[in-house]
Amino acid sequence: MRPSPVIAHRASLAHFVSDPEICGEKACEFFEDGLLVIGESGIVVEAGAAESLREKYAGVPVVAHKNTLLSPGFVDAHIHFPQVDAIACGGGDLLEWLNRHTFPAEAAFADADYAAEMAEFFLAELLANGTTTALVFASSHKCSADALFARAREKNMRLIAGKVLMDRNAPPELCDTAESGARESRELIRQWHGAGRLGYAVTPRFAPTSTSEQLHKAGELLAEFPDVLLHTHLSENRRELDFVRELFPGEGDYLSVYERRGLVCERSVFAHAIHLGGDEWRRISARGCALAHCPLSNFFLGSGLFDFARARELRMRIGLGSDVGGGNSFCILRAMEEAYKTARMRGDNLTGMQMWHAATLGGAAALRLDSHIGNFLPGKEADFVALDFAAHPLLARRWQQSQTPEEKLFALAMLSERPTIKNAYILGELAN
Ligand SMILES: [Zn+2]
Repeated sequence: MRPSPVIAHRASLAHFVSDPEICGEKACEFFEDGLLVIGESGIVVEAGAAESLREKYAGVPVVAHKNTLLSPGFVDAHIHFPQVDAIACGGGDLLEWLNRHTFPAEAAFADADYAAEMAEFFLAELLANGTTTALVFASSHKCSADALFARAREKNMRLIAGKVLMDRNAPPELCDTAESGARESRELIRQWHGAGRLGYAVTPRFAPTSTSEQLHKAGELLAEFPDVLLHTHLSENRRELDFVRELFPGEGDYLSVYERRGLVCERSVFAHAIHLGGDEWRRISARGCALAHCPLSNFFLGSGLFDFARARELRMRIGLGSDVGGGNSFCILRAMEEAYKTARMRGDNLTGMQMWHAATLGGAAALRLDSHIGNFLPGKEADFVALDFAAHPLLARRWQQSQTPEEKLFALAMLSERPTIKNAYILGELAN
């Protein structure tokens, strides 16, 4: 049964009802003058042209937004909560950057009070950037995951996170053991998975920082809890690939290290996947895995150019990730811009539709949340972002001159800066 309408927002609306890869531009519903009607408990009642819905919802109070596009909230498919203070720290590739900037920043999260303070900052930053859902790495300390879940629960956010599993090749203060990592993950799953809108992801950092035993135990957790996700990194950097070969001799390619330990399935979300061999592409798509494309970080760390075109051809589920702190912005609009440039650097193309889909419904599907969020269809949870398409004169001009939804969405992604993002709404309520 549909909830009774409580409030309506009148603005331009854009959302995806299917994948532009399959349905082309018809996948996007765009209403220049639209009405988003929200019911009790923050559930979408209906969205469409204001002209056709005004009479039907005549008694419902209307919030009128000027120069505003309402979009489903952005989904950040890969981000690190304890790396806020490692952001914009330059110099070196992935492995150097981890040792020099990231591990020291993550060590501070052993302190529960500090983790709680940073969780507040982190979630506020996500919302300020229009991101209403994220798949998040905590640190290896259980208390960091507890702090993040507790704050996200207070804000009623749909968020998936996990404590990092890491039992080697990292400073001792950041290492757990195969046994303690599995035990703490199990405790966190029991406490937080399914609490409110929260979900859990088993989160080994990446193959180089886990022993074979720890990865096996991660696979056992996945088997034990059939609806938690697996979230890790894969084939981000060439030196990382050499390191994996050295650590797991005779095991084939990088993906097979995860495959042999039960970590490659339709619940797996792999960040990066830049340097995959031909057979790895076939296997990873056959298993129904999702990928998080993180172009901000791939450029910042010089990791390489993700083959978005190939992933799309294989009909894989793809989300966009900021990968903060390797990425130098929380803003998914900027990730869209860099995704476009990555595609151009490869000689490929990426449309506005493809980018916005990956940032909303596609990202939700990558996290297996598309039955709850990602668009404005009736029954969906009304997490959305208000974007000011006249935030600066150049954007206002370009928006006005754009003729089609494709052109408008493309221009908004290319010309957005933080003032473009006005507000985020969680379950219909203003969240920042
Ligand atoms: Zn990452």
